[in-house]
Amino acid sequence: MNHHYDVIVVGAGSFGMSAGYHLAKSGVKVLLIDAHNPPHESGSHHGQTRIFRTAYTMGSAYAALALRAGELWTRLAEEAAAIQEPTRRHIYEGAPQELFRRTGVVSIGHSGSRFLQAKRESCEAFRIAHQLLDASELTALWPGFAVQEPMAGLYEPDAGVLFSEAVIRASKALALHYGARFLPDTRVVRLAAAGAGEQARAVHTAAAVYYADRVLVCGGAWAGELVTELADRIRPTRKAVGWFDAPPSLYGHGSFPAFIVNTGGSEEYYGIPDMDGGGMKLGRHNGGEAAVPGLPVPPFGTRPEDEADLKRFAQRYLPGAQRLNRGSVCLYENAPDEHFLIGQLPGRPGVWLAGGGSGHGFKFSSAIGEALGELLTTGRSRCDLSAFRIEG
Ligand SMILES: Cc1cc2nc3c(=O)[nH]c(=O)nc-3n(C[C@H](O)[C@H](O)[C@H](O)COP(=O)(O)OP(=O)(O)OC[C@H]3O[C@@H](n4cnc5c(N)ncnc54)[C@H](O)[C@@H]3O)c2cc1C
Repeated sequence: MNHHYDVIVVGAGSFGMSAGYHLAKSGVKVLLIDAHNPPHESGSHHGQTRIFRTAYTMGSAYAALALRAGELWTRLAEEAAAIQEPTRRHIYEGAPQELFRRTGVVSIGHSGSRFLQAKRESCEAFRIAHQLLDASELTALWPGFAVQEPMAGLYEPDAGVLFSEAVIRASKALALHYGARFLPDTRVVRLAAAGAGEQARAVHTAAAVYYADRVLVCGGAWAGELVTELADRIRPTRKAVGWFDAPPSLYGHGSFPAFIVNTGGSEEYYGIPDMDGGGMKLGRHNGGEAAVPGLPVPPFGTRPEDEADLKRFAQRYLPGAQRLNRGSVCLYENAPDEHFLIGQLPGRPGVWLAGGGSGHGFKFSSAIGEALGELLTTGRSRCDLSAFRIEG
């Protein structure tokens, strides 16, 4: 067979590029194929930054994975620091010379809410450093917030902000350094068995067919186009994000944390302090309209709620925030219950999938990549991914 690999990774964004880096580093012959050239603006990882935190409300599997991810982010940053020019300059384009910054992250919600209670339990179970704050303590520490009783907060001082695009560039540079082959701007159109009775898989692009013992699909929001049986479990959802002019003394990264605010029920907003003079980033986690396969995603501002939601939140909770200076749209890859889907696909031997990041997956991508690298080579992984397995 021509073009035969141990593993082909389809989709080399957040999860796929990380898996490719770990696979290549462990000596596996790996091919990465992406419809674009990550990082890019047609998936789920752009907009420069992502929140990293470890206290989780969705079960202990997430906190354990986040803690391992934190160790791996440090390791990736160390490895990336040794990369030479000119690749080095390219990695940090549009970002400071770092992959992660410890800004602290505060979660704010109604005192007594399950949102805060579950985070507190997660901190206690996993010995995650944290501080509980009432509304007056919150506003004394960070006068940029307008928060009154009965709102309260849980602060994680070791949490912070990942530079997502720089992370993907660094992982790509290292994957290539360790021998991975990468095909950018190449869309995979079909996955199939390599032949009757064959365990190997065939990965079809418009121009060629590539073969592998195992295929890992990390197609993000569009994974359901290749793995059609999951189309209703990974739903591409359009999300608006905005950057607000905001005084650095109140909202800059040295004086303000990243944050998540649960305003009641499932309504949640998140924000990232101004990291580089480009403004404070603000987004709404819940809601969003379905993106349609094959059609362009309507740009920021084409829906009245793009601006209205963010401005309303800023006026209520961040009174020092000024003008909305720019906006962007990005895609969530939403599972109905926001739980990740990671594992072998039922009824498709040799085909694995990592997806359903549901707007909170990036922080885990280092540990997901490591665990997939281990599972695809040895059948065992240091981090247990069984909580995310894909049932038929
Ligand atoms: C606005 C926004 C804010 C977010 N904030 C946070 C946050 O603060 N913290 C956090 O942890 N997470 C956050 N997330 C979620 C996180 O970014 C995603 O969960 C994560 O990036 C998903 O990774 P992925 O690998 O599944 O998708 P992607 O990174 O999008 O990668 C998928 C790749 O697959 C490729 N692809 C798709 N189809 C094909 C095909 N047929 N052939 C070849 N290639 C294909 C795409 O081109 C793409 O490069 C946020 C997401 C958004 C949109």
